[in-house]
Amino acid sequence: MPKKRIIKKRKKVSVKKKVGRPKKAKTKKKKVGRPKKKKVGRPRKKTVKTKTNKKRKGRKTLKKQKIEEGKFKIKPEAQILRGMSDIVGEDIDYWQYTFKKMINLSERYGFNQIIVPVVEKQFLFEKSTGSTSDVVEKQMYSFKDRAGHNVVLRPEFTPSIGRAYIERGLFNLPQPIKLYYFGPLFRYERPQAGRSRQFHQFGLEIIGSDKPLIDAQLILFSQTLFSQLGIKASIQINSLGCEECRENYRSRLVQYFKFKKRWMCNDCKKRLAKNPLRVLDCNKNSCRKFIHQAPQLVDYLCDDCQKHFVKTLECLDEIGVVYEFNPYLVRGLDYYTQTVFEFWPIRAKKEKLKTQHTRAWQAYGLSSQTALGGGGRYDNLIKGIGGRLTPATGLSYGIERIIDELKKEEIKIIKPRPPQIFFAHVGEKASRHALKLFNKLQNERFKIAANFAKDSLRAQMELAHKRGVKITLILGQQEALDNTIIIRNMNTGNQEVVDQEKLVKELRKRL
Ligand code: AMP
Repeated sequence: MPKKRIIKKRKKVSVKKKVGRPKKAKTKKKKVGRPKKKKVGRPRKKTVKTKTNKKRKGRKTLKKQKIEEGKFKIKPEAQILRGMSDIVGEDIDYWQYTFKKMINLSERYGFNQIIVPVVEKQFLFEKSTGSTSDVVEKQMYSFKDRAGHNVVLRPEFTPSIGRAYIERGLFNLPQPIKLYYFGPLFRYERPQAGRSRQFHQFGLEIIGSDKPLIDAQLILFSQTLFSQLGIKASIQINSLGCEECRENYRSRLVQYFKFKKRWMCNDCKKRLAKNPLRVLDCNKNSCRKFIHQAPQLVDYLCDDCQKHFVKTLECLDEIGVVYEFNPYLVRGLDYYTQTVFEFWPIRAKKEKLKTQHTRAWQAYGLSSQTALGGGGRYDNLIKGIGGRLTPATGLSYGIERIIDELKKEEIKIIKPRPPQIFFAHVGEKASRHALKLFNKLQNERFKIAANFAKDSLRAQMELAHKRGVKITLILGQQEALDNTIIIRNMNTGNQEVVDQEKLVKELRKRL
């Protein structure tokens, strides 16, 4: 009933104004042409006289503010850099889900976390990743710090872990050391799908053992992780042998490419002179067509490396890991020795092959663009930067690519449990009391939502409904004075007043 009255009043006022202002007639005409714009707009604003209308005006101004906010634009100088991204909203659910799975599995496998700095000396990466690798040669964010040191934003983790192993004396602990890590990395690459300038990795390192079983353990870990995440990935595996094996292979490779060089890309022409193995990593069509017929490193392995590789594969067979031997997998970094591996999403591989199925060599051509992760042995890295000869193996996963895969494959993730309680308050005094009580409930480990920026009970109840909570607690002035609180069952609408002292117990009973 009261609503009807208000409507009548409004009509009266607007009629009056229309008489006074003939322009209004114009706006009516316009309304026909652009009904949406005008509906938001003017005539009703001026009729604000009742309490209800005041509230409505408030809402309209908020709406208007929101529209206007859309018009604001960040100053170009303050915009995010190319190749960088913010992770907010729904994406955070994916991040938390992925990290939780990785951390849980790592800890169950007996890995301990390590945190290393984001900024390191440039020399560390030149010496280990390799000065001819793309990462070091072209992609590092390098600068001089205020003391004049040549430093870089870390482009990968393994060298830092190797450095920490020496500097923190981890070699004194029982070997092998098992570490996991995660964080951002920086590579100045051409941004494109699946390739950004700041990206995140989660990785594992096992330092202090040369056993093939250890390589197999890391690969098994990955198979388990991908199956837990619901991602289908193929495991590509190869052996790069030791320095001696590679020396023989290198000269054979140069010989093979000698007469094909003129058709190959400029980068590969340089690579043939500086680091011929890196040619096998090239994704350009001009080069890949020669790569699939190139001699295979596995045929040049010395006895020891061959034994190591065979044992690794046997071990994988025995523990039921499905892998694909990929004779042209080299990984882009210089420190790898013997076993190397990568994880390719099966869907992406099929998609590419559908369009390029006629060329078998392209089956190997997708790794660097789509790999979800990869790793391998790096038995010489630690010695190279000053430690003693220490065999080691490790891997890393690209978090963004894994999350992309989860989304593309529409894999359902378990989202964090939403709050089951909403805490509403009425009146200023009650709101302070409510804040204190809210904190107490948090400490009791209840997952609880509230909005202390809102005063109106109605608005708070709307929020409680939206969040789908089971229970809403209501604290008004009277309850604050009486040391009581209202517990409202949101399904039945039943309300009960309980003593604040008994609140925790009462909530536990109801949830
Ligand atoms: P890498 O350290 O180059 O062996 O890379 C390991 C994994 O990190 C890759 O398999 C990708 O999943 C991911 N990754 C490498 N570079 C990038 C990048 N620029 N943007 C996003 N992910 C990347």
